[in-house]
Amino acid sequence: MTSERKTYDVVVVGGGHNGLVAAAYLARAGLSVLVLERLAHTGGAAVSAPAFSGHQAQLSRYSYLVSLLPEQLIADLGLDLRLESRSVASYTPTLRDGHPGGLLVQRPERGKTEKSFRALTGGDSEYAAWRRFYGEVGELAEVVAPTLLRPLPLEREIRDRVDPALWSDLVSNPLGETIEARFADDTVRGVVATDALIGTFASMNDPSLLQNRCFLYHLIGNGTGEWRVPVGGMGAVTDALARAATDAGAEILTSAGVSRIDASDDSAEVTWDDGTGTHSVSTRHVLANVAPWVLQILLGGSEDADAKPAGSQLKINMLLDRLPRLRSGADPEVAFAGTLHLEEDYSQLAAAYDDAAAGRVPRVLPGEIYCHSLTDPSILGDARPGTHTLTYFGVHTPAALFERDPEGAKRLAVARAIESLNLHLEDPIETCLATDADGKPCLEAKIPQDIERDLAMPGGHIFHGDLEWPWAPNRARLDTPAQQWGVQTDVASVLVCGSGSRRGGAVSGLGGHSAAHAVLASL
Ligand SMILES: Cc1cc2nc3c(=O)[nH]c(=O)nc-3n(C[C@H](O)[C@H](O)[C@H](O)COP(=O)(O)OP(=O)(O)OC[C@H]3O[C@@H](n4cnc5c(N)ncnc54)[C@H](O)[C@@H]3O)c2cc1C
Repeated sequence: MTSERKTYDVVVVGGGHNGLVAAAYLARAGLSVLVLERLAHTGGAAVSAPAFSGHQAQLSRYSYLVSLLPEQLIADLGLDLRLESRSVASYTPTLRDGHPGGLLVQRPERGKTEKSFRALTGGDSEYAAWRRFYGEVGELAEVVAPTLLRPLPLEREIRDRVDPALWSDLVSNPLGETIEARFADDTVRGVVATDALIGTFASMNDPSLLQNRCFLYHLIGNGTGEWRVPVGGMGAVTDALARAATDAGAEILTSAGVSRIDASDDSAEVTWDDGTGTHSVSTRHVLANVAPWVLQILLGGSEDADAKPAGSQLKINMLLDRLPRLRSGADPEVAFAGTLHLEEDYSQLAAAYDDAAAGRVPRVLPGEIYCHSLTDPSILGDARPGTHTLTYFGVHTPAALFERDPEGAKRLAVARAIESLNLHLEDPIETCLATDADGKPCLEAKIPQDIERDLAMPGGHIFHGDLEWPWAPNRARLDTPAQQWGVQTDVASVLVCGSGSRRGGAVSGLGGHSAAHAVLASL
């Protein structure tokens, strides 16, 4: 299928959720918009799919929870979308002196959370420290969140509104130092630290502060940092956005892989292949929903191996006939309803980082598990009662570990992830897995290389590149709308509109929102 016109105001390269956000805003403003997506469907990493033959369950195959998508954006675009709160924030099974136990954090926190901290740590000081810490993090979130839909603030404009000690703790000093100063218990420290390591390979004391930035993005969504379940799965988010874009008049072509962008500061020509041939259109603005590293190649640059992002996660999707019982005796419907932390004690995270930095799959693999279907059974279709989905996200598994022997290293990493889980289960997970149409266990695993192959995210980096602070450095040049919104490239007609824009990381729509507003401000 080819485009309806030869010339557009805007061509969006990539139909991920951010590309669709941009297309919807710009088409609603009356611009002619063409979205070109290389896959046969839109959504990029925000999709639902039946991952196992013989089962209809629609798994959020890649991304699964939503926090950063602003309510304002949902309202602006009139999205028909339900995001459900989870009743449990997290459960962390523990084995201390051989005794199974666990740390429960409810949402909202109530008496059982306090009791759980006391039982694990032997007193009330850790829970007091926890409440104080997250209270203060909430203060920073409330300052940053309202700025996300506006042009970039300067760093000092944010800093001036935050307690200086808190700024040091979260922004200036490595987060590991803060956690070590504020918490004493290894498990509690680890639960706090994990938000800093999602898709991010860094030590907690890394001077780059990459871990601090990752932590901040996990805590600022809508000013509360709450991670919610998209009802109908991640595909429901994408479908609502695609509807908003096409209802407003945007054209979306799928199976249209862009192979070249010839751009000057005033205009561009975009060329794509769709299996039947090569096509091109001209446009005033190109919005690149692809990663900046991919964009450079489309613009005629070379594949710069040194600048290529590198992802760091192991994703495992599972379909179960029943939820496993836990050795701690916790109700599985409670333990799996939030984020279930596995071997993510602070010391275990540090040891896993050291292993991976030395080129080894961590001996004890830290990761976390979450069950979508406990909060939203609608994704299961007509599956038998008891069926559930589980998704595992392993950390400290950088792409480099899988380069030499991808299949062998992946088998090892999956075995270690299962080991980390089974350590806490009464019923080994293998005994709970459903089987597919060929009788094989319903378990699929994706290393960074798989993510790159499936989604064209370079290096399998889930944010298209390392996260940046959601504000501009004090001395940044903010002359053009593109610079003011953090979406500029070296060519004025081409803007970044995905996860790789300054505030774009994760399922937030912020990359698309920023790029669309930069275009509108330049008209
Ligand atoms: C395993 C995994 C788990 C994650 N979990 C979460 C989570 O729970 N919550 C969360 O908020 N975030 C999560 N993330 C991160 C989040 O999914 C991404 O940051 C976000 O989806 C990026 O959206 P995007 O629209 O910017 O880019 P993408 O989703 O990468 O979309 C880019 C689109 O461009 C297309 N494309 C690429 N090259 C071309 C080309 N040459 N021509 C045309 N089209 C092209 C791609 O096919 C894709 O559709 C996760 C990511 C992964 C991979």
